[in-house]
Amino acid sequence: MTEDATIYELYAIRYAGNPRRHRGHNYIMADDPERLEPMDYFSWVAVGPSGAIVIDTGLRREKALQRGYDYVRPPHAILPSLGVDPAAVKTVILTHMHYDHIGNLDAFPHARFHLQSAEMAYAVSPLMAKPWFRLAYEVDEIQRCVAYLHEGRLDLHAPEAEIAPGMTVHLVGGHCAGQEVVRVRTRRGWVVLASDALHYYEELDKSIPFAVAHSIADMMLAHDRIMQLATSPDHIVPSHDPQLMSRYPAPRPGLEGLVVRLDVPPIPS
Ligand SMILES: [Zn+2]
Repeated sequence: MTEDATIYELYAIRYAGNPRRHRGHNYIMADDPERLEPMDYFSWVAVGPSGAIVIDTGLRREKALQRGYDYVRPPHAILPSLGVDPAAVKTVILTHMHYDHIGNLDAFPHARFHLQSAEMAYAVSPLMAKPWFRLAYEVDEIQRCVAYLHEGRLDLHAPEAEIAPGMTVHLVGGHCAGQEVVRVRTRRGWVVLASDALHYYEELDKSIPFAVAHSIADMMLAHDRIMQLATSPDHIVPSHDPQLMSRYPAPRPGLEGLVVRLDVPPIPS
């Protein structure tokens, strides 16, 4: 196998859930706004020949509890059950800077972090003076990223970048100005972790935008880009959909409801 054929095992870690969320929170002009539509919270890890790459670091426990989420445990506490030592992780990709994606950075003391340059610019832009745009940002998490930048531990990359062989990131914007998706080569082809460019499968299925947006137009165009990047629609992974836990298998007994494996095909429905 050549280096260019690097493939990864890929896992989604469910670290929290919010069963009390409604469709009115999720969709602009939702058809049934009072109906419950639970949201799950995930971190992802790709395990390859050169070690593990973590994609988003979840939300700190105290912040999850403040927001009324059902917290399972921090994603880095689940990594050892997949054979991954957080202290040995060298590469962490941050798909954007919303609070539920960049918590717990200090759990990876030897990692370099990777983020879209456009997202850092957005998080400290004049738009943050408006409550709508800063809704899902936490100042202390942004400050930590700024500190890592000045310490030489944060790489701010261009719109398209190869983070490692078989692992590329692509700016799509929409949900926030620097939202990116991550394309991971697996034994079943290119899987796209859409992150918050897709919260639920329904957004892509019905071609509708999520309610939290920097640019509705870019959010809708991101659907097309995700389709281009993935080997098939079955290779697209939304970021907050509880269906993930039933669409994919647990990697082994004992991890049901906690971790699913994304480098294998979805379970036939
Ligand atoms: Zn999110």
